[in-house]
Amino acid sequence: YEKKPISLGPIVQEVLKLIRASLPTNIEIRQRGLGGGSTVFGDPIQIHQVLMNLCTNAGHAMRNSGGLLEVGLSRVEYSPSDITKPMDVKPGAYVELTVADSGPGMSPTVREQIFNPFFTTKAKEEGTGLGLSVAHGIVKEHDGAIRVDSQPGAGTTFSIFLPLLADAK
Ligand code: ADP
Ligand code: MG
Repeated sequence: YEKKPISLGPIVQEVLKLIRASLPTNIEIRQRGLGGGSTVFGDPIQIHQVLMNLCTNAGHAMRNSGGLLEVGLSRVEYSPSDITKPMDVKPGAYVELTVADSGPGMSPTVREQIFNPFFTTKAKEEGTGLGLSVAHGIVKEHDGAIRVDSQPGAGTTFSIFLPLLADAK
């Protein structure tokens, strides 16, 4: 890992540019809050990889039906007593990166296994089952957390929390 202060906005823009070129036209892309000022201490190539994996999965989930891919960037601050704080993050300030799709969602059984290496529901040519396990590893390596909110028929939202770089506030 080659960590340094990085702004997430431009990384998101870059990934969206790549993804847009590969998505069918029945998938709409929206972005929220990419204005800048979301600085973290991280490896840009690895963060790029995480985002790419999430967007690729979202695109795949909607490849037949079409739908909406929404990528958002915001800041959140969690106090120790905050009941909305994800269990696996320490109190503090974070950049929250969300990738939401309006695809078919996941059953609870699938959802429980998605971060396991080689777990896939795809055909051999279409998926190795490594994308989310790699993403999980990278996020952990950055002292962050990854959460998924998904239900059959209700789409999927992945949220990534990375510690906001204090000096860049
Ligand atoms: P792969 O994409 O190679 O299957 P991943 O680790 O990226 O491996 O994803 C594991 C599994 O998680 C997928 O096979 C799929 O079942 C499920 N999954 C991931 N993202 C989504 C999504 N956005 N919508 C529905 N299912 C998803
Ligand atoms: Mg994948």
